[in-house]
Amino acid sequence: MSQFLAEKYKKLEAYVPGEQPRDMEYIKLNTNESPFPPAPSVVDVIDSKQVELLRLYSDPTCLKLRQKLGDLHGLKAENVFVTNGSDDSLNFIFMAYGHMGAMFPNISYGFYKVYAELHQVEYTEIPLCKDFTIDHNMYKGWGQLIVIANPNAPTGICLGLKEIRQILENNPKSVVAIDEAYVDFGGESCYPLIAEFPNLLVVRTYSKSRNLAGGRLGYVLGNKDLIEDLEKLKYSTNPYCINRLTLLLGEATVDANDYYVDCCKEIARVRENTTKSLESMGFEVLPSKANFIFAKTDVMDGKELYLALKKKGVLVRHFDKPQIAQYLRITIGTQEQMNEFIKRLQEILDGGDK
Ligand code: PMP
Repeated sequence: MSQFLAEKYKKLEAYVPGEQPRDMEYIKLNTNESPFPPAPSVVDVIDSKQVELLRLYSDPTCLKLRQKLGDLHGLKAENVFVTNGSDDSLNFIFMAYGHMGAMFPNISYGFYKVYAELHQVEYTEIPLCKDFTIDHNMYKGWGQLIVIANPNAPTGICLGLKEIRQILENNPKSVVAIDEAYVDFGGESCYPLIAEFPNLLVVRTYSKSRNLAGGRLGYVLGNKDLIEDLEKLKYSTNPYCINRLTLLLGEATVDANDYYVDCCKEIARVRENTTKSLESMGFEVLPSKANFIFAKTDVMDGKELYLALKKKGVLVRHFDKPQIAQYLRITIGTQEQMNEFIKRLQEILDGGDK
């Protein structure tokens, strides 16, 4: 750190992204990416002509993409805010609505805390229940920004639409942001509630169920006035934050929706198979509706198992946080990758490879 950094950032603890190692070829199950490529029609939209056109700025209004996303969700372009990955959306949400304070679960996506600290937002971390579920009744009437990942990460556990509705009814004076990064793998999206609740923001990403993590595209659905607030902040930061190629990929992705629905079904199928295999090996697996599972065994320490898997060429995610240090978060890959993961895991548990 230099002597020049603003005092207010000196204690900031930046987010630590999952590893992207280059030292060897891993079965990469650590950052919840899709094992499947984008749809063929999406891959085809980028040609040398589009690359040549990069000399021109991208459309800062992202109008075509917003119209397509609006149509997809039965909303209008004015209800859609598009950003460079959904992390960018979350950043703007904390920037815009954090002044009254914020609340989010104590075990959830680690970036919520980082954004809160970045924007000097006073925040409350609401404990999860013993079984790692969210008690929606604990989010009540505080008037602060409420941020909930649904399904939650890294647990994969879902709240139902009924509970989300209850949170909205209990908090008419709060902005309620539901981060649906993983909803397409078996959860129920709450965007139909936008018509009823002008304080609801639904955050979505192309990184997980749209096989486009490297494209960096995220969006927010919500009431027109809230979207205008977020646009204002985007235009005060970096109006061209989405590049021309990503806009094209994003539009073509909406057109290829059926392909992605099939990918999600396949991930859900492999998730259930993997859960059964792990349970038969004595693992406790939380009931996930996401493209990852959260699991632990009594026979080996979480961190040790993470390191042993890494040595064997399988990368999963381990969090050094007391309540969840025994667990591993395992992204669902293809069936073949998961079979290989189970095989190498069994070798570790059989001894010799710890
Ligand atoms: N929300 C949650 C719950 C996530 O796990 C992630 C991915 N790490 C994101 C948002 C951000 O994803 P992206 O910026 O790639 O859209």
